[in-house]
Amino acid sequence: MAILSKLQPLHHPLFKKHNVHVEIKRDDIIHPIISGNKWRKLKYNLQHVKKTQNINGVLSFGGCYSNHIHALAFACFEQNIPCVGIIRGEVAHVNNFTLSWAKHWGMKLHFVDRKTYRRRHDNNYLAELQQQFPHYFIVPEGGSNELAIAGVAEIMSELKQQTKFDTLITPVGSGGTLAGLISGDKENYDVEHKLLGIAVLKGADYLINEVNALLPATVKKHRNWQVCTNFHRGGYARFSSDDAQRILEFNQTTAVDFEPVYSGKMILAFLDLLAQGYFKAGERIVLLHTGGMQGLGGMIERGILNTADWPTPKRVASSE
Ligand SMILES: *Cc1c(COP(=O)(O)O)cnc(C)c1O
Repeated sequence: MAILSKLQPLHHPLFKKHNVHVEIKRDDIIHPIISGNKWRKLKYNLQHVKKTQNINGVLSFGGCYSNHIHALAFACFEQNIPCVGIIRGEVAHVNNFTLSWAKHWGMKLHFVDRKTYRRRHDNNYLAELQQQFPHYFIVPEGGSNELAIAGVAEIMSELKQQTKFDTLITPVGSGGTLAGLISGDKENYDVEHKLLGIAVLKGADYLINEVNALLPATVKKHRNWQVCTNFHRGGYARFSSDDAQRILEFNQTTAVDFEPVYSGKMILAFLDLLAQGYFKAGERIVLLHTGGMQGLGGMIERGILNTADWPTPKRVASSE
């Protein structure tokens, strides 16, 4: 199996102090636009769409700054697949950083209020959408379905060729990525190691069931994984200026960029666990960089982060 993203050592004085060996799997640079885990999750979904006659396009769901919507819009543009985004929020967001790109790449944006958006897993609502968009393949929010699991699982077969490790850490949103890693772990490894998910949203204990529900039957009994739910820092996309500062310092020290919604929250959790003595001496740790750097565009636009400090993604030019 080809290796799609590199694994590189990560250096920080704290790693030396706590005697751990840290590497980072750079899925953030797997593609110049389609970032990280979204690339993995879309791979087999879009293959399915292309090879199935009678499917005309893809429909999916996301918030106004969604990494998934951004990734899906570009992937469909690149592969010439029509796509529709069901977006939570007001039409007024249509020119924000993320959605202006999605629109630029040809995604049809369909705005719904919060109440309607909450029905995104409801079969009646999905049937209505299917009528409205006949022959569109419906992909759940975040891209997390069975086909996504197969794509993410390939990270493990790559890692097997790249290194040996004791603990793999990933941020967790919907749980699809963690489920894919667990699935790939069972397929590829007979050695025991631990998979640790860092929930980026509040009250995320339900994620354990979500992850279990996404696991293929053969993998369900695999119990070497865990979701840490106490590192959300106030909730989804919430963080303090001190959190942002710590991430910035980490970026400067390691020369790898992390953003505060997913990958940076994983980093803060990792540093906290390190300080708590969670890892044993000599432990080999792999961090999965799931990407998401486009999200910085929206945070800078809203004044949540400062342009001077963070890498600023390029906006759609008004002439484009
Ligand atoms: C979507 C996303 C996640 C969360 O992945 P899930 O499969 O939903 O758990 C993590 N990191 C980044 C950068 C993302 O965009």
